[in-house]
Amino acid sequence: MNISDNIHSLKNSLPPSVTLVAVSKTKPVNDLMKAYEAGQRIFGENKIQEMAAKSEAMPKDIEWHMIGHVQTNKVKYMAAFVSLIHAVDSLKLLLEINKQASKYSRTIRCLLQIKIAEEESKFGITETEAISLLKDPRLKELSHVKIEGFMGMATFTDNTQQLKQEFSRLKRFYDLNKEIYHFKTLSMGMSGDYKIAIEEGSTMIRVGSAIFGERD
Ligand SMILES: *Cc1c(COP(=O)(O)O)cnc(C)c1O
Repeated sequence: MNISDNIHSLKNSLPPSVTLVAVSKTKPVNDLMKAYEAGQRIFGENKIQEMAAKSEAMPKDIEWHMIGHVQTNKVKYMAAFVSLIHAVDSLKLLLEINKQASKYSRTIRCLLQIKIAEEESKFGITETEAISLLKDPRLKELSHVKIEGFMGMATFTDNTQQLKQEFSRLKRFYDLNKEIYHFKTLSMGMSGDYKIAIEEGSTMIRVGSAIFGERD
């Protein structure tokens, strides 16, 4: 795996409207630094402790994205530095993010994770649940969080037709809400399906193994 080459060729192939999150979970800081030296400044992790340790060890101009499920009681460990939380799924979590962000006088960007896969997934909310969350009057009081769009994970499948359908459905839902809530981010697409996700309107892809190699 040549991490630097992978970053360069990925970036060269992306339309300018698409942001690349390099998913570095389980990988050593050495590997992340190779991506950093190739110009990558946005890294995604799914464990708060691991992300905090890496953020300590690495240059300060990096944007750290939490892409995994977040437990309310762990928010405090990332509130000082996390830039975007991809998998928000409840008002309770938003309240806690707001509370912790306020301690640092920061605004933390958030995405709502929408269930799009056919397989039964523990995480994410339905479109209906997302709408009632977005309409909740208590949201207006949260001055330290900014919900800027949606995130979705498609079914783990090679079926291109199915992937297209899942991504295009989320894109349609995103478009319905985009103007109303001033959204700007639709996070969908991973190593195996990011090309399809981009065709279907993704603005942010989360790519791990295609950059850093397979994880153990
Ligand atoms: C691990 C992970 C990715 C990246 O997966 P790859 O297949 O290695 O690109 C993307 N999104 C989420 C939420 C992940 O947990």
